[in-house]
Amino acid sequence: MLGDVAASVAVLTQKAVLEKIPHVFKRLEEIAESVFSYELPPVPVARRLMDLSLNISRQHPDIIFGIGGGTVLDSAKYVSYLLNLPLILVPTLASNDGICSPVASLFLEEDQRSSIRTKMPYAVLADKDIILSSPARYTMAGVGDIISKACALEDWKLSNETTGEEIDYFAWTLSKMAYHSVLHFKDPSLNNKEFIDTLLESLVSSGIAIEYAGNSRPASGAEHLLSHAVDRLLGYSGIHGLQAGFYTCTVLMARDSINYGVVTEFLGNIGFFNHIPRQLFNRELFERALELAPHVRRRFTCLDIICPQVLKFAFEETCKHIDRFLSRDSSENGT
Ligand SMILES: [Zn+2]
Repeated sequence: MLGDVAASVAVLTQKAVLEKIPHVFKRLEEIAESVFSYELPPVPVARRLMDLSLNISRQHPDIIFGIGGGTVLDSAKYVSYLLNLPLILVPTLASNDGICSPVASLFLEEDQRSSIRTKMPYAVLADKDIILSSPARYTMAGVGDIISKACALEDWKLSNETTGEEIDYFAWTLSKMAYHSVLHFKDPSLNNKEFIDTLLESLVSSGIAIEYAGNSRPASGAEHLLSHAVDRLLGYSGIHGLQAGFYTCTVLMARDSINYGVVTEFLGNIGFFNHIPRQLFNRELFERALELAPHVRRRFTCLDIICPQVLKFAFEETCKHIDRFLSRDSSENGT
């Protein structure tokens, strides 16, 4: 099909990806008339991607392929947007809903990361065997990012009731279905191919909800603000979905949400908390993130109305709850 539609393909990737899944590149060379591969820098700085786009445009490609993890996909989105070319994404990780969204997380300068609206990919080709062979913490991050929609949607509703912000009900429903499919999956496990299928579909649906709403409201609320705040405080980006899922529990508890129990049980039982970096349990870091989070972006969330003491108490209680899962898992594993 590709051979009929696109004669010339520009592939954006990284060396490690080329070495890990050579069969994907080989197949692409078989079906396209010509393939030009470009290795991306590890840090997606917008200015460098502009230079790269200029370079790519000299080959007159018909289509851009992004093959790799989140950084590669974000860079490919931006390049295809600059060149106004159709984009096909081949994710090698299922770590967040950026695998099929119009939003690219890029550095405008070396130390200033921002979310930039680009355009939706024409297609996403996700191979679950590639995802199954990827490190568990990244797939678990995808689980956390999807589950965080439980919190994001409550914030959207709260904003609607408090500020009158409009709700797009199609985007709302899509996002709700995405996290419900994962949350209520019968036998959730990272080794279960059907669960990986469901996770991939949910991540794609969440990205489509963002496109439909015209912004990331269906996918991002207070828990995302806390995650972004922690990135700034630590000076580097942690694994996004792990952080978003972790803070989802705290925020749901602070809101006294009926979702708190079911979400925390689900994450505990699937082993999500075993992948959370220990520094996130630091109370002082959380308090600093709490102060910074409402200023990360202009978006009304429950952080604007819940008393900080309630959030701090919820954080402490959530950490204790999570610790019970962690000690249960370590005694079951005999460690
Ligand atoms: Zn997210």
